Amino acid sequence: MREKFKSLVAKAAEWHELTKEELIYVLQPEDHKERELLFKKADEVRQNYCGSDVHLRGIIEFSNICERNCLYCGLRGDNKRLNRYRIPEEEILEAAAGAYRLGYKTIVLQSGEDSWYTADRLCSIIRKIKEGLDVAITLCVGERTYEDYREFRNAGADRYLLKHETANGALYTRLHPGMSFRARISRLEWLKELGYQVGAGNMVGLPGQTIADLADDILFMKRMDVDMAGIGPFIPHGNTPLGKASGGTLDLTLRVLACARLLMPLVHLPATTAVGTLHPYGREKALQCGANVVMPNITPSRYRKDYEIYPNKICVNEEPERCRGCIQNRISSIGRTVASDYGHSLKLKVRHNY
Ligand code: SF4
Repeated sequence: MREKFKSLVAKAAEWHELTKEELIYVLQPEDHKERELLFKKADEVRQNYCGSDVHLRGIIEFSNICERNCLYCGLRGDNKRLNRYRIPEEEILEAAAGAYRLGYKTIVLQSGEDSWYTADRLCSIIRKIKEGLDVAITLCVGERTYEDYREFRNAGADRYLLKHETANGALYTRLHPGMSFRARISRLEWLKELGYQVGAGNMVGLPGQTIADLADDILFMKRMDVDMAGIGPFIPHGNTPLGKASGGTLDLTLRVLACARLLMPLVHLPATTAVGTLHPYGREKALQCGANVVMPNITPSRYRKDYEIYPNKICVNEEPERCRGCIQNRISSIGRTVASDYGHSLKLKVRHNY
């Protein structure tokens, strides 16, 4: 094993700081031994800072209608080969109540960018969930106005997930017609200002993305001091302009996850459904490389197959009860436990005893 690799991993595990050049080096282990060391150290940092608990967040994908045209995404407005749906409010509330009965303490409300959901409509759903259930709410509904974000927050939303997708501004512009990286950053700043626990995140293996870009992604999230970092592989979807591109690999995704854990010890890191799609034990592997969150799908099953951001997504036919049991077994199988608290920001907990 290269001495330099060993000492940089040790430095990252102890001080949680690396320069961009150092991070680029650590992101590229030379062999199996170096890779194992990186994963082992990330797992140790996760254990020291987050413990054995895995936080479950139940996701309700309540609308697959999207007015954007992101080049990689199956929900993009120009994809006419998708059945579009909006789940009626009553059904969303039932799904949330069902998840609560199964022990979920966080409900994630996720959709495409669908302006039919005015602030009033979304606030009504948020309020009803918060009034009826003792859960935290994460919103993931894309770019909105400052005023909308304020109303959602006042209605009771606790967290907001707005992935930055890539910190390479030129690549961001190519992938997101009509959108700008600057606007994305402003929104992340607004969300922080409004007191949300904020999640950003990036894709791994995008066409044209370099290792240096991935290092920038991690350093960007560290600088933004995010509470959660959603890092997952790019998986090409046949009905998009990037359908023929090659996707991100499990190995590279795990390396990025491990480095993210080394540099951001208190961040919540999900083992994404997308890594579970790349490999039957992808989520377990991610949980052993620094991840501490799993986000099972609790969308009513008849809608699930149509929330097709990427193809062959796992768990589209599982009922929430089965899914909950399956996840529990997977977590126990690697010696970990399911958390029983809300899973709020670890940074808030440590810094402000939240
Ligand atoms: S990534 Fe989000 S905003 Fe972009 S097309 Fe897909 S659902 Fe819409």
